[in-house]
Amino acid sequence: MRTSLDISFPPIGRAALPLGLACLALLHAGPAVTWLPPVRRRLPFIAGVGDPGHVALTFDDGPHPGSTPRFLDELGRLGCHATFFVLGELLERHQWLGRRIVAEGHELAVHGWRHGNPLLAPPGRLTAEIGRTADLVRAVGGVRATWYRPPYGALSLEALVSARLRGLRPVLWTAWGRDWEAAATPGSVLATVSAGLRGGATVLLHDSDHASVPGSWRPALDALPALVERCRVMGLSVGPLREHGVAFP
Ligand SMILES: [Zn+2]
Repeated sequence: MRTSLDISFPPIGRAALPLGLACLALLHAGPAVTWLPPVRRRLPFIAGVGDPGHVALTFDDGPHPGSTPRFLDELGRLGCHATFFVLGELLERHQWLGRRIVAEGHELAVHGWRHGNPLLAPPGRLTAEIGRTADLVRAVGGVRATWYRPPYGALSLEALVSARLRGLRPVLWTAWGRDWEAAATPGSVLATVSAGLRGGATVLLHDSDHASVPGSWRPALDALPALVERCRVMGLSVGPLREHGVAFP
């Protein structure tokens, strides 16, 4: 569904086509390097660096009925809340799960409608899909989404502009568990996250294997108790992005 917020690129004349296409490609792909660690270090507000006494816990690629309820059960047992970056196509199918996420004190955020690479999307598609997902999050959860994280961390120019026009703050991560890899174990997830675990960190894990190898959510789930315990031993509270005090320019 297109909205008044849709962004279209202007048509390009034949003579200017090669240069125009090159410029468009640069404009489109340029911001996508934000997932690279050195770039994220220079853009702390995009990476999600927050309150030095807090760690933000975030999950991507759900909600999935086979795995997300287990994460919610575990988070309830651990007594902490998180931010769930959901896919619209899954939330539409499993709205009860979106309602449960919110009812249990967690936060719904926008990951996209499908898990496509934003750099491969034709102009206009990301704008429409970000808007459609944000509308669905509001309809299901009853609150307006605050955060946007693109699949693969590929923050294209169109995604950046359309997210901001929708009032969404783009946020990536400062530490991840590489939990999507086939060889991941609870120990490898914990060790990988711990390498970047410090006050103000935003941790990326996945509560679904929708975009990765089947069952890849299990190591993240099994690493969760030790991860939360490690944060608490370090004197850090664990919670959703809304409690993270992320500063935006
Ligand atoms: Zn994802």
